[in-house]
Amino acid sequence: MSSAPDFMRDAPCARVNPEVMFPAPADHKGLDEAKQVCAPCEFREQCLSYALSPDTRIADGVAGGKSERERQRMRKPKVRPYRIGPLPPKSKRHAPAA
Ligand code: SF4
Repeated sequence: MSSAPDFMRDAPCARVNPEVMFPAPADHKGLDEAKQVCAPCEFREQCLSYALSPDTRIADGVAGGKSERERQRMRKPKVRPYRIGPLPPKSKRHAPAA
């Protein structure tokens, strides 16, 4: 991993087989194993920011203790539900245009 950020050199993920950190998205056992590697890591916040940043985005594998699907969800803008109030009484509703 030549383009890995400096902090990863001293992180727990640098001491495991790299395949451990890149389980298939549906491999729940593998994802848990990779997250256990991240759990004691002192760089988790920094790593997650790095992985989520558009400039340095890490698309695959577990980074910052989060799976790629979890990071995808974190990147999606939150859609605010459209708030509507109660319907006006029928007598005040406009008739549909003919
Ligand atoms: S949080 Fe996980 S992937 Fe990131 S540096 Fe630490 S051990 Fe590696």
